[in-house]
Amino acid sequence: MRVEFLGGVRTVTGSATFLEKGSLKWLVDCGMFQGSKEHEKRNWNLRPYQAKDLSFVLLTHAHIDHSGLIPKLVKEGFRGKVICTKATLDLCEVMLQDSGHIQETEAEWLNRKGKRAGRGEAVPLYTMKDAEKCLRYFQTVDYDDVLQLADGLRVRFQDAGHILGSAMIEIWVEEGAEKRKLVFSGDLGNLDQPIIRDPSIVEEGDVLWLESTYGNRLHKSREETVQELLKVVQEAIAHQAKVVIPAFAVERTQDIIYTLGQFIREGSIPSIPVYIDSPLAISATEIFKRNADCFDRETKVLLSGGENPLEIPGIVYTQTTEESIAINEDQRAGIVISASGMCDSGRIKHHLKHHLWRNESHIVFIGYQAEGTIGRRIVDGAKTIKLFGEEIAVKAHIHTLGGFSAHADQKGLLDWVSHIRNPNVEVFVNHGEEKISTELGRLISERFHFKTTVPQWREKKVLFGDEEKVMPQEKAEEKLPSEESFDVLFKNLGRTYKRLRRKLKREKRRGEDSYDSRWVKQLEEVSKKLEELEEEL
Ligand SMILES: [Zn+2]
Ligand SMILES: [Zn+2]
Repeated sequence: MRVEFLGGVRTVTGSATFLEKGSLKWLVDCGMFQGSKEHEKRNWNLRPYQAKDLSFVLLTHAHIDHSGLIPKLVKEGFRGKVICTKATLDLCEVMLQDSGHIQETEAEWLNRKGKRAGRGEAVPLYTMKDAEKCLRYFQTVDYDDVLQLADGLRVRFQDAGHILGSAMIEIWVEEGAEKRKLVFSGDLGNLDQPIIRDPSIVEEGDVLWLESTYGNRLHKSREETVQELLKVVQEAIAHQAKVVIPAFAVERTQDIIYTLGQFIREGSIPSIPVYIDSPLAISATEIFKRNADCFDRETKVLLSGGENPLEIPGIVYTQTTEESIAINEDQRAGIVISASGMCDSGRIKHHLKHHLWRNESHIVFIGYQAEGTIGRRIVDGAKTIKLFGEEIAVKAHIHTLGGFSAHADQKGLLDWVSHIRNPNVEVFVNHGEEKISTELGRLISERFHFKTTVPQWREKKVLFGDEEKVMPQEKAEEKLPSEESFDVLFKNLGRTYKRLRRKLKREKRRGEDSYDSRWVKQLEEVSKKLEELEEEL
């Protein structure tokens, strides 16, 4: 069993891990590098496989830094399955096509410039059409279902609580007599994010890939952050000013809509124009509404009371460029939410150009700003920013609100790792800037005495089952016997019960003939056993 780290190591973008077991080859995530030129070059890099030889891509979630190179993979001959949750597929449908559109536009722009400079033709990584084509290879999986993908290879997706449909992936691999469980945390969510559920817990694992975006930082509490946002919005209202929020189209935008709705419901602010100026965010919001089964309890309660937390008074969705331009003619106080979240592309650049130099405007950053992005330069205190070839002074109030993050902070990450009970687990710290991954890795080895590595880009490793073992000391039989906690046992029992109930009901609906009387008998036996257990105790 071999691994090669293809991206999302010592950086937050380009997440991709190549795995190989005998002749079976697959990827976990197939993300795009974004940010610096040097990193973006890696999107064109040769890979250790032929696309046609891959059997699967296991996709943790729809963010482009995890899914963005799938259209390119299909274009190059991949004909396997991209396995993900249904909400991830729904989101990928709009996000990948949007990404294809961006690739085409950038290539066109480069060509215009290139022609004048006498350079060769730039080609897009992939087109909108390629993005549309790749969708036919997607196959959805329900959270918690165990999927047998091949001999000696089973996987399970569990809710990662990061964005709608996001998953952590558990992979059970057998090679010869050896068995290992690999766990990919995916991007791990923050506790108590609105709309979606909290991240699941994993207790078993031999090899763990752990994200570390905020591995060196503690977020302010959500409550504090919400209050900060309220203050900013109130101040903008008092000065007839605008609040510009660069936001990822998925999750952050819906989170802000939800929070503003809360302010209005509580009467903390009047209803003011809230512009959602991102066609992608508009589609994403529709997808949220279609995937209510992924919502948390609070959101379900609101919905059942007839309140849609994603529909607030004053909200204006702007699809066309003309509508987008018109926003800046509106002199009233208001809020503009636009993508991209790191200000590198999309309509947000126009809003920044319009507001960065105004003393009274507020720019509110709510998501991670990767190295090399325009967002990062503003957050780091740049005095001027170059936009569309023009130097713009930064005079507006700049705010960074960490508590809206879709990522767990250092404490959240350590808490999540603390549930792993195998003392011989090997942890690969990924999805973080070098310094941050290293710091989190050090903390994990100090606190839990786990073997921790921050892999290098393109580093290869033999995990097990091969001559040149990298981890000879970590044989399964040397591990301490592990015991499942009551929480996990009861949680699993509850889940099995729900799945069984669903399946039986479905069968029952299909008609009496197919309904097997054996199941009724088995149910009776189970309930008898449970009663006996209760009496025994
Ligand atoms: Zn993500
Ligand atoms: Zn990510």
